Amino acid sequence: MTYLEVAVTAPLEHTLTYSLPARLENGESGSEKPGLIGRRVLVWLGNRRVTGYVVGLQSPAVQPAYQVKEILEFSDDSPLFHENLVPFYRWVANYYHYPLGLVMKTALPGGLTTRSQKKLVLATDGESLAAHFPEKLPEWLEEIKAHGELGLRESARVLADKESKKLVGKLLKSKALSLEIALSKDAVKEKSETCYAITREDLPLPLNSEVLPEAIKCYRQDISNELGIMVGLAEARALYTLQQLAQDYHDKAVSLKDLRSHCGAGASQAMAKLLEKGLVVASKKRVFRTPFGEQFRYYPRPERLSEEQNAVLSSILPAIKKAVFTPFLLHGITGCGKTEVYLQAAEASLAAGRDVLILVPEIALATQLEAHLLSRFGDQVVLLHSGLSAPERFDQFSLALTGKARVVIGARSAIFAPLKDPGLIVVDEEHDSSYKQDDSFRYHGRDLAVLRARHHNSVVILGSATPSITSYAHAQSGKYTLLTMTERVGSRSLPAVRLVDLNTKQAKDHKKIIQPDLLAKLHENLAGGRQSILLLNRRGFSAVVLCRDCGTPVQCSHCHVSLTLHKGKNQLVCHYCGFTMHGQTICMQCRSTDLVPAGFGTERVEEEVRELLPEARLTRLDSDTASDRKKFLATLADMHNGKIDILIGTQMIAKGHHFPNVTLVGVLWADGGMSMPDFRAAEKTFQLLTQVTGRAGRGDEPGEVIIQTMRPNHYAIVYARAHQYDKMFDHEMKLRKHPVFPPFVRLIVLRLQGRVEMDVQGLALRVARLCRKLVEKEKFRIEVLGPAPSPLDKIKDKYRWQVLLKGTDTEELHALCLAVKAERNTLQQRDCDLIIDVDPENMM
Ligand code: ADP
Ligand code: ZN
Ligand code: ZN
Repeated sequence: MTYLEVAVTAPLEHTLTYSLPARLENGESGSEKPGLIGRRVLVWLGNRRVTGYVVGLQSPAVQPAYQVKEILEFSDDSPLFHENLVPFYRWVANYYHYPLGLVMKTALPGGLTTRSQKKLVLATDGESLAAHFPEKLPEWLEEIKAHGELGLRESARVLADKESKKLVGKLLKSKALSLEIALSKDAVKEKSETCYAITREDLPLPLNSEVLPEAIKCYRQDISNELGIMVGLAEARALYTLQQLAQDYHDKAVSLKDLRSHCGAGASQAMAKLLEKGLVVASKKRVFRTPFGEQFRYYPRPERLSEEQNAVLSSILPAIKKAVFTPFLLHGITGCGKTEVYLQAAEASLAAGRDVLILVPEIALATQLEAHLLSRFGDQVVLLHSGLSAPERFDQFSLALTGKARVVIGARSAIFAPLKDPGLIVVDEEHDSSYKQDDSFRYHGRDLAVLRARHHNSVVILGSATPSITSYAHAQSGKYTLLTMTERVGSRSLPAVRLVDLNTKQAKDHKKIIQPDLLAKLHENLAGGRQSILLLNRRGFSAVVLCRDCGTPVQCSHCHVSLTLHKGKNQLVCHYCGFTMHGQTICMQCRSTDLVPAGFGTERVEEEVRELLPEARLTRLDSDTASDRKKFLATLADMHNGKIDILIGTQMIAKGHHFPNVTLVGVLWADGGMSMPDFRAAEKTFQLLTQVTGRAGRGDEPGEVIIQTMRPNHYAIVYARAHQYDKMFDHEMKLRKHPVFPPFVRLIVLRLQGRVEMDVQGLALRVARLCRKLVEKEKFRIEVLGPAPSPLDKIKDKYRWQVLLKGTDTEELHALCLAVKAERNTLQQRDCDLIIDVDPENMM
């Protein structure tokens, strides 16, 4: 009898033992037996049937003392993860105090209900297949002989038939056929597009970036004068655009699609004529798409690396070759070319026969990195993230699992990608707090990246222009190797940053969000045909809606949070639970109908900019307008193609993007995040300001940044302005010694929540008391703070209290958590939740 160790998808502390019935043990016919570890199974748990995962085999010699239940079935035909991930999963479950089975459920693609399908494939040549059959081949084998394989539906039909299944078994054994696990959808076919390139070096050069009718006329005249070739007006226009785009893209061959989007459908005919006249040549270029079928710009490999890129790679590449665990922190200013470092490190890992895993904070923001990866590695790349539909995600997952794809890019949960042997793990924008999952399984993707790299003996690169204070402290202490890049590619300079003090009388009297200095610059930039970005990290129209009679803000009925007015939809929205109500409402306190919006959000900024700069083409990008990925990508494309003059948005426009024509960035109110009761408030503000500053001046023209702030002397703003990361780090480190905070200690938050406030408070008091008692008894060096109501003390109808644990010894902290969990029953109040948040990122 084989006993299996199964992690069930239920809130259980321990794994369970089940036996493997003979009918399942021998059930697999013909083909090689898939392994047991990593299989998804269906098992009884009490009187429920639940999904579980096989994480270990138990020696048949060890007879359990109790009645062992059998597993009911295997849910798939083969394992869903490699055996070498099991120790990693176990460690993660222990560290985050989260049940192993639920950890694995998070790690595996959601909605896994589809069974993978089988496809019959010819394993030898057609003739040796025919040799098995002295007489006539059955029809379906004839088909396989002719086409090398059988379609999914046909294969299923053959395998369902008893007689032909037997035959398949024989042919599999003799290796004439093989079974392939096919994806639920046919792999996307290769696609290419038509491109045109100019043949003659002696064409006149386009004048400027504007395509004015006069400019085209002159250009057309020049061509006929200088080359003696007559071209029509439409042809001149198309040729002119082709030259411009080739310059912009640094690529001679420009796609017809791009030409058409710039000069209309007429471009096709114009190009055909130009082709005849020998002024252009046509070619085909391979197009890479995401699983969505979206098309990407192709990025060629740069001819030369910058000195800094070379220097940094000379540390990374040997470590990849040696295959020993080496964590690097790559601190490189915005625009220094970190992407190329990742790409060449990835090349090295693939060359060493190992896989590559790349994490980005939010996949929607990483389209550029995706495009770079697809350009360099083509169909070896898969994308893993929650924006995919279940079958798409399963496809991508399977490609990685079976080793067909060897480069995975994804958001947080991609850290669990089923790659067998990642030799390189990259965490881009490692400081980003979206790497920390903020509900149920509260893991940190970046921290797990370092851990997983250790498990696989691989290299991990944490990259950022603004490393988290914690990571930088690790680099200083030698735990990570620090690599620094201080120059922008192409000797571009960092933009000059100017502060506008919102505390002056003049500024206060100015009734607009956009102060005169910024407005003047916006006008100037617009007149010069350059692009601008305006950042305000708050969506909606107003921050709150206040009652003019009693001063009370309108609050969410489920949270202690003010509602935000969204004028476009005429709704008041809770940004924590999504509760909405009609914009026209009354004060809950005094029944007054005299309510006024106060404070501002991106929607109001948009309204103001429309009024102040009516001629500007503007677009707003925040989670209200970017909910649709297609729209989001279209906006980014419009930005790239110069169809937007001013882009207004929240933090999502601050990160990662490379818009060469953006020369002005305006931060409308830098102080928003600074008054949060969070010890990282200043750190986060510094990061946001530095990131958005980095969006300016990435092209040929220098950039400029204007930051409007109420606190121009605050250190986070002063250092962000002067691009002084080192000083920011030193300042922050001093502050975090007293009272002590990470990186000098580790934090764990014990959060209690429930619907009855008194019960939550009572439980919080008992938990804190228990912690103190245990600390005293065990002589733990742990500080217990609280209990106290959480800063957001009611969300989604649940009251929230917390106890904060601070300590330097991880083992002691975890021992304390285990002890508290063990006492959970004696603490009573079953209707309240006890949540353990290890290394909390969100202190609210
Ligand atoms: P960041 O460090 O902010 O991620 P990027 O990787 O986006 O910077 O690089 C900025 C720009 O410099 C990109 O347009 C990139 O294609 C270009 N670039 C990077 N390395 C080189 C190189 N060696 N030669 C030419 N251009 C490069
Ligand atoms: Zn009122
Ligand atoms: Zn709410």
